[in-house]
Amino acid sequence: VKRTGRHDYRFFTLAMQHRAARHLQMVNALRYALEREQMQVVYQPQISLATGRIVGAEALLRWTTPELGGAVTPAEFIPAAEESGLILPIGAWVLRQAVRQARAWIDAGLPPVAMAVNLSAMQFRNTELPELIAQILEEEGLPPSYLELELTEGVAAHDPQGAIAIMNQLHERGVRMSIDDFGTGYSSLSHLKKFKVYKLKIDQSFVRDISTDAEDKAIVSAIINMARSLGLKTIAEGVETAEQLSFLREQHCDEMQGYYFSKPVPEAEFRQLLSKPRD
Ligand code: C2E
Ligand code: CA
Ligand code: CA
Ligand code: CA
Repeated sequence: VKRTGRHDYRFFTLAMQHRAARHLQMVNALRYALEREQMQVVYQPQISLATGRIVGAEALLRWTTPELGGAVTPAEFIPAAEESGLILPIGAWVLRQAVRQARAWIDAGLPPVAMAVNLSAMQFRNTELPELIAQILEEEGLPPSYLELELTEGVAAHDPQGAIAIMNQLHERGVRMSIDDFGTGYSSLSHLKKFKVYKLKIDQSFVRDISTDAEDKAIVSAIINMARSLGLKTIAEGVETAEQLSFLREQHCDEMQGYYFSKPVPEAEFRQLLSKPRD
């Protein structure tokens, strides 16, 4: 390309150096993030379309660190945590916090909600995962059926047999699993049969233009119908408008999650949402 002159090239390498430096800085800062109490879990409500009530919470990680000038988005730090292996201790911490929180809401007499926690493929490759989760549930006193693990189709990419074995163990212990970002992976349909999945989370990229795009309408409708015939629940993520919601209702989607109802919020705010009288 003509425009790729010496200056552009130099700019390109500087940008790369900058990115590499930030990545290194991030991994270093991530090592101390937990002990320095820089991490926080926020919760986003999941709403039943049949009743309009909150039936679940998705735990989402937040990180603020002075070393990197403030808040770092999960889109940036989760990949760094995965590459460095730090997702294992960080992921275990999130599980512990979320399970403890779910127990605290029960103890406060609030309506029961499922607690959904995101798991990275790397966490899911660890054969000790079912044992770790069982231990956390027991120590915190939460019945396993309250916990829902959000997995992407990527968990099975590396070792499908191993992933299925871990899923079976979790299923036997009574923990629920959902497929996150459903429809964006490659192996969705062939693996669905073997996965002990409870719910499909329809990816927000399909939900975004649902009220205007005929193809997205068709895709979402097909996912909901397929899920129903397989006996799986559906939840749509990234719901931002009344129009999106009314289409999902028409299609008999089970649940929704998105800014239309609430952003992810700190636990005190979630508690308020949960205790608000409805109807
Ligand atoms: P995800 O699991 O697909 O989470 C949904 C993301 O969409 C969240 O971004 C959430 O804040 C955002 N969101 C929710 N409602 C709306 C909406 O109506 N519109 C739009 N545009 N976005 C909405 P967040 O919190 O930045 O997390 C990004 C990703 O980082 C997550 O995607 C998940 O893959 C990962 N992540 C977050 N927390 C954890 C964690 O504790 N462990 C692991 N392994 N991954 C995590
Ligand atoms: Ca998720
Ligand atoms: Ca998702
Ligand atoms: Ca996503």
